[in-house]
Amino acid sequence: MRKTLLVLALLAAVPAARADFPDRPITLIVPFSAGGPTDIVGRIAAAKAGEILGQQIVVENRTGASGTIGMTATARAKPDGYTVGLATVSTHGTAPHLFPKLAYDPVKDFTPISNLVTSPNILSVHPSYPAKDLAGFVEHVRAHPDQEGYANAGAGGVNDLGMIWFLQIIGGKMNSISYRGSAPALTDAVSGVVPVVFDNFPSSQAYVKSGHLRGLAITGAQRNPQLPDVPTFAEQGYKDYDVTAWYGVVGPAGLPAEVRDKLAQAFAQAVRDPATAAKLAETGAFALGNSPDEFGAQIQAERDRWGGVIAKAQIKLQ
Ligand code: GLU
Repeated sequence: MRKTLLVLALLAAVPAARADFPDRPITLIVPFSAGGPTDIVGRIAAAKAGEILGQQIVVENRTGASGTIGMTATARAKPDGYTVGLATVSTHGTAPHLFPKLAYDPVKDFTPISNLVTSPNILSVHPSYPAKDLAGFVEHVRAHPDQEGYANAGAGGVNDLGMIWFLQIIGGKMNSISYRGSAPALTDAVSGVVPVVFDNFPSSQAYVKSGHLRGLAITGAQRNPQLPDVPTFAEQGYKDYDVTAWYGVVGPAGLPAEVRDKLAQAFAQAVRDPATAAKLAETGAFALGNSPDEFGAQIQAERDRWGGVIAKAQIKLQ
């Protein structure tokens, strides 16, 4: 009898709790360092989504292993919607093919919520670097095999792989210097310690604007309005080379549909809000805010696409 009552009480409590969701602050795990692109776009979107939900969304940076530490924590969180994470092309697209001991499956262990934004990538160099443009860079790299390094946000992440792939195309060899995110990679690039950096656009663009870095090429079909003078890789002859970054909210597997949808609607509405969209546009990112189903399909497609790129180019971590 007591057991029955307890079960009934629990059953009654569950929908009530979901209807009230969220009744306390939500944690958004950003798996890269503060000041990096995931952090920048995550904080802009979280501020507005929190306003819409009537609860604060607290960003927690859990860095390391190309974002996979923060994503492992997200996958293992209680599936109640109070802990979600910001997945990226690195954590869900590239890492699964390169980290044999990865503690999660990018599809099975998560509930997709909404992909917030996409962004191009940019190759930049320190102003003192000998090459002035992409053609000069290619020539310089070919002439100095294994003698220089490029800074990137994490081994096996999209910036490391994007560069490995480009080096294969041009027949060049450089050393990968990986950090716990774009922010520390940029610190070393701007100071000239590692004068080449391949990065997601939102974190690099301010340094290129201010002249602390020289932008050589961006990925994607079009130039970015934030840096209209930096040409694309495609217009400089590398038509088949494209690397896009994205940042989307995921929860652990088994998130109740009502909670998932409430979060998805809030985040989608947030990135489409004119003031928030303008802030995102200032970073050079493109607001998306798609549905859980659309984002789920995208994660699978990105995982498969990068699996293909990695297998075809026979990319392995150094
Ligand atoms: N390059 C990483 C990615 O797109 C993000 C790095 C960072 O946020 O610092 O997955």
